[in-house]
Amino acid sequence: MTKKIGSYFLSMALLMFSLQACSQGNGPAATKPDNERWQQAIEYKMEIDMDVKTNRFQGVQNVKYTNNSPDALDQVFYHLYFNAFQPGSMMDVRSRTIADPDRRVRDRIFNLKEDEIGYQKIKSLKLNGKPVKYEVVGTVLEVQLDQPIAPGSTVDFDMEFEAQVPVQIRRTGRDNAEGVRYSMAQWFPKMAEYDYQGWHADEYIGREFYGVWGNFDVKIKIDKDYLIGGTGYLQNPLEIGHGYENEGETVNQKVENGKLTWHFVAPNVHDFMWAADPDYTHKKLTTKDGLELHFIHKKGQNEENWNKVMPQTEMLFEYASKHFGKYPYKQFSVIQGGDGGMEYPMSTLITGSRGSLIGVTVHEAMHDWYHGILGSNEALHPWMDEGFASYASTRIMDYINRKTKGESEPEVTLENLGNNSGQRSYVGLSKSGREEPLSTHSDHYNLNGAYSSSAYGKGAAWMSQLGYVIGEKNLDKGLLTYFEDWKFKHPNPNDVLRSFEKVSGLELDWYNEYFVYTTKSIDYGVKEVKGEGNKTNVTLERVGMMPMPMDVVVTYKDGTKEVHYMALRMMRGEKPAETQDKRIVHPDWAWVSPTYDFTIDRPMADIASIEIDPSGRMADVERGNNKWEVNSLKTNK
Ligand SMILES: [Zn+2]
Repeated sequence: MTKKIGSYFLSMALLMFSLQACSQGNGPAATKPDNERWQQAIEYKMEIDMDVKTNRFQGVQNVKYTNNSPDALDQVFYHLYFNAFQPGSMMDVRSRTIADPDRRVRDRIFNLKEDEIGYQKIKSLKLNGKPVKYEVVGTVLEVQLDQPIAPGSTVDFDMEFEAQVPVQIRRTGRDNAEGVRYSMAQWFPKMAEYDYQGWHADEYIGREFYGVWGNFDVKIKIDKDYLIGGTGYLQNPLEIGHGYENEGETVNQKVENGKLTWHFVAPNVHDFMWAADPDYTHKKLTTKDGLELHFIHKKGQNEENWNKVMPQTEMLFEYASKHFGKYPYKQFSVIQGGDGGMEYPMSTLITGSRGSLIGVTVHEAMHDWYHGILGSNEALHPWMDEGFASYASTRIMDYINRKTKGESEPEVTLENLGNNSGQRSYVGLSKSGREEPLSTHSDHYNLNGAYSSSAYGKGAAWMSQLGYVIGEKNLDKGLLTYFEDWKFKHPNPNDVLRSFEKVSGLELDWYNEYFVYTTKSIDYGVKEVKGEGNKTNVTLERVGMMPMPMDVVVTYKDGTKEVHYMALRMMRGEKPAETQDKRIVHPDWAWVSPTYDFTIDRPMADIASIEIDPSGRMADVERGNNKWEVNSLKTNK
């Protein structure tokens, strides 16, 4: 599957290049880099007027849409996410029929009353000033165009809409469990993404988002007592106040009919969230790097932990920008709202009364890297977002915990290389018999539990285990290369793998072919150890179906350690040594062979133990057979 996609890109890239080259008369075609791919562009201009008594708002939206694809588009699609919160919606039916419903949803949508449901009603829609035909089908607005949008052209869509904010069920809504009035996620009619796979007009059933990058200009008119936080830079702080003014600046609130108009601008994002409450309090922290961090929460609720999370968020951005790519925006906001923790560009909504706020803040902030900035099709490849965010969170939490305790970085040993982020959850799933391939669309897993352990667990394991395959230094380099190569470009599973292939010089196609597209698992064991004079013969065994390279660590009774390394022949190379310990590189293991024999040049009596991957980075589903130990501590001394 990976290979097919690869050659499709290549032929398309060559075709596009030769077309370009012909029209410019540039002579012979060179190969086009595989990180250049066309992408749609969008500019949103929205004005909404909120009525906090009825929880309804009127909206006007202007969208400038640029079709950078090679295709003439005779239809477009918008998401109308609020419509999911109506009895009988696909989200409702799915929640009432899946074997393990989300506890936040269950049958709550089914039981919503008229004034509690959500909706987005389209009052008018025009393309370049002319009315167009459209139909609302559940959470998708289908728009038919008489005049197709030509490749390379920019058009204007003008819409008037009316919305009712649903009672908070999932992610978005009013009056959440902690009393936050408005958690405004998925609140506007949002253009679906069109890419090399065509339209992605997925119904809103449960999870994960994919959108067009662009610039947002949003004006929100709301009761003057409400404080707003969210995606975007506030343009008129002195007309607003509410803690957005800088010290020494004079606020002159511009109140009209009891309302303030908040004007936000957000460049190069694919979504826009805002939250509002009359009892919010607002704190700011500017980091050493000049990043403005905003913390917005209900006054008097869990103040101690909200104060603690501020300097920890600074540590998070410091570590993340160094190890996962430079954060490109000037602002990030941590806001109380929603129903757990949820990521949005330049911001997060988290429930605010939990014991510690930093774990959830770290995870959601890391989504700004993988969901916000890299922006893979998260509905289709949720593991590239949830998994990578989880992996990054493991490292950042280690860093914050060390830094808080004043500890320095531990010395690198064979046992503590990298981490095993996600593996426990993945191994549990693998053994449960309920695993589905990681390539499953996020909405289409049979069970919510299988989705979570796959997207978060196996997705994180994909990354932590890759450190074992290519070496931690290559992994570190690759994480930054991947970010630089693919930021704002929607990478797919092949693209991320290619970034790591390029930095490591190793062939890795087999890694996705097994770990992403199948549920085949990894189990290696030490089968036999036999002394023969001054030498020791060892037989390793591949028990599981997924092949892996081997780090076999021999510990001698004198305490010294030695690494015996066997790459997979299909890797076409070896990872570099990862520690100062002596390493012996054996001939490659051809994956077809279930066993592998090698010799240690010392007598068996010298050996204390032989262990496959003591670092624990390989997602081996049965660790019991990984270690051979001399069981007689007394006899051999
Ligand atoms: Zn997440």
